Amino acid sequence: MSVNLFRFGSVLHAVAVLALAVLVSCGTTARHYKGKEGTTDADGDIICMKHRQKVIEVDGYRQSDEICVLPDPDYIKWRIAFPMPRPLGVSSTRSAFYVEPVHYIYCSACEEAIKVKMEEEKKRRRTLSKFGLKTGG
Ligand SMILES: [Zn+2]
Repeated sequence: MSVNLFRFGSVLHAVAVLALAVLVSCGTTARHYKGKEGTTDADGDIICMKHRQKVIEVDGYRQSDEICVLPDPDYIKWRIAFPMPRPLGVSSTRSAFYVEPVHYIYCSACEEAIKVKMEEEKKRRRTLSKFGLKTGG
């Protein structure tokens, strides 16, 4: 009984191609969160329905109507998958771009999950570019 090295190499090649195919297809689509966004608990606190935790309330600032600072496209992409991300165009600190006082709420677990998704997306793109593949969305 002999081992056919050519065939073994083909199997390894097929596994590598399959792994790349999975890498290309996974994690690229942000599914829109369709459940209920929030509810209130017995104390009247707002709870994120996905993470079952109390939201954070912030006295922050929003962009004035004359200014539009575009967020990271990956942030826009992934925030739809979570019920209570930070509203767009707000900041907890006043700056040249964020000038209008505003009160807003968000779920810190939603924000953290978006950051994880964005980081996964960056890693995926780096890996794909190592193999000379286009990264697409
Ligand atoms: Zn949440």
